[in-house]
Amino acid sequence: MLSYTAPSTVEEAVRILAGASGPAKVLSGGTDLLVQLRSGRAKPDLIVDIKNISGISDIREQDGVFIIGAATPGAVIGECEALRQAWPGVVEAAKLIGSTQVQGRASLAGNLCNASPAADSVPALIAARATCVVAGAKGRREVPVESIPTGPGRTCLRPDEFIVEFHLPKRPPHSADTYLRFIPRTEMDIAVVGVGVSVTLDTRGVCTEASVVLGAVAPTAILVPEAAAALVGHNCDETALSELEQAARRACKPINDKRGTIEYRTKVAGVMARRAAVIAYERAEERR
Ligand SMILES: Cc1cc2nc3c(=O)[nH]c(=O)nc-3n(C[C@H](O)[C@H](O)[C@H](O)COP(=O)(O)OP(=O)(O)OC[C@H]3O[C@@H](n4cnc5c(N)ncnc54)[C@H](O)[C@@H]3O)c2cc1C
Repeated sequence: MLSYTAPSTVEEAVRILAGASGPAKVLSGGTDLLVQLRSGRAKPDLIVDIKNISGISDIREQDGVFIIGAATPGAVIGECEALRQAWPGVVEAAKLIGSTQVQGRASLAGNLCNASPAADSVPALIAARATCVVAGAKGRREVPVESIPTGPGRTCLRPDEFIVEFHLPKRPPHSADTYLRFIPRTEMDIAVVGVGVSVTLDTRGVCTEASVVLGAVAPTAILVPEAAAALVGHNCDETALSELEQAARRACKPINDKRGTIEYRTKVAGVMARRAAVIAYERAEERR
C-alpha cells in the first residue's frame, strides 16, 4: 500500500527516506510524479512530501547570492523581480514550464530530478553555474546542477538524499542570461531544443566570460565549452556567432523521434544557440 508523509524539517525528511523499507519518492509540486503514479510508471511504497518544510518554497538573497527553495513553484519564481533582474534567463525558463495551473506547483527540483533531457529550467540553471544543496544521512553537500541528472529519468542522488535549495551565484556587473526553446506548438509542448546562455562583458562590450548549455539534444543537458569560448574576447560579432553555431552543432548527440530527426535537431540547436547568445549579449549591453 502507498503511504504518504509530510515532514516539517529537513532532518526528519532525511530520517524517513533513510529508514524507508521500500522505494520512496520525494514530492515537490507533483506535476510529474502524480502523472507517473497514475500511469503506473512510478510505483513507490512511500511518498515524502517536502512542502511543509520551512523555507523550502521561498526565495531569498544573501550578499548577491539567490537561494531558491527546492519546492518553490514557477509562479513564485516568475514574480520575484529581484531574481528576474539578476537572472532573466533562469526566470524565463522556469516560467515556460507548463500552463498556469502547472506553474502553481512545478518546481526547479522536480524539473531537475525528473531528469528529462528536455527539462526547460535545467540548461538555464547550468548556464548560470547554479549549485544545489543536497541533504542526506551523511549530511549536506553542494553539487553543481549539471552533476545531478545522469541519464533520462536517472539522477546521482542516493535513496536517502533530496535537494533542499538552489544557489545562483553573485552576478558580476554587465552580465545577463537567456533561455530559448524551440517547440512545434506555441506552448505546452516539450522542447525539440533548449538553449541557455549566460555572458559577462567588460566596459567596452567585449565578452569576458560565457556559458552555453544545450537541452534535448543528448541524454542530459550539456555544457558546450567550445561554444562559450567562441564568444569570449568578442563583441558578439559574426565570426563569434558562426563559430558558436558550429560548436553547438558539433556537441549535439540527439535521437530521432516524432519531434524531429537527428539532422533537424542538430541544425535547430545551432540556430537557437546563436539567437540565445545575441539576446544574452544585448541584455548585458543594456546593463553597461
Ligand atoms: C501539463 C504539463 C505540462 C508540462 N510542461 C512542461 C514544460 O513545458 N517544460 C518542462 O520542462 N516540464 C514540463 N512539465 C513537467 C513538469 O511540470 C516539470 O518537470 C516540473 O518542473 C516538475 O516539478 P514538480 O515540483 O511538479 O516535480 P514532482 O512531480 O514533485 O517531482 C518530479 C520528480 O522529481 C523528484 N523530486 C521532486 N522534488 C525533489 C527534491 N527536492 N529532491 C529530489 N528529488 C525530487 C520526484 O521524486 C520525482 O521523481 C509539464 C507537466 C505537465 C503535467
